[in-house]
Amino acid sequence: GSGQLPEYKAALVGASGVGKSALAIQLNYQCFVEDHDPTIQDSYWKEVALSPGGCVLNVLDTAGQPVHRALRDQCLAISDGVLGVFALDRPDSLAQLRQMRATWDPCCTRPLVLVGNKCDLASTSKEAHTAAAALAESWGTPFVVTSAKTGQGVEEAFALLIQAIQRDREAA
Ligand code: GDP
Ligand code: MG
Repeated sequence: GSGQLPEYKAALVGASGVGKSALAIQLNYQCFVEDHDPTIQDSYWKEVALSPGGCVLNVLDTAGQPVHRALRDQCLAISDGVLGVFALDRPDSLAQLRQMRATWDPCCTRPLVLVGNKCDLASTSKEAHTAAAALAESWGTPFVVTSAKTGQGVEEAFALLIQAIQRDREAA
């Protein structure tokens, strides 16, 4: 049964409104939710086929507002790795993510995948895309472009994080 499968805890972190909740819901229910409460912190468990043999993925959806920092830090403390999310139409959200990471992982050592969400929008900024690719390279992390609306890239983002967590555990 699923009791034997490895379990991974993935925290979704990023500024408010970038689509963290929409990504969690798209992965778990294959649907798009237009108006999720921005203050809700939630978690989802799902058996997924995102790594060979399958695994149990626990997705921790955090709230992005600065006022919820303490709660977010608790989530980060128990997570195995992080999907760092920004929105491709909001360069400021990439800067916010960068600042957040400096507080939770100043040495950039914990498993992370950088996620540029909302790629379905026509208003995505090329500048944000280029800046994100450069940032991911400097962090040594993968960079994935996603849309929680269409589902593009969503499974890939989580699968890459699982791989990064597996490498981290093997190295420990
Ligand atoms: P969170 O605060 O980071 O959890 O963001 P939400 O998941 O609540 O999403 C904020 C807003 O962006 C909502 O209106 C969502 O419907 C919308 N949204 C989220 N992801 C996408 C996406 O990939 N494409 C588009 N077009 N809208 C999105
Ligand atoms: Mg949310």
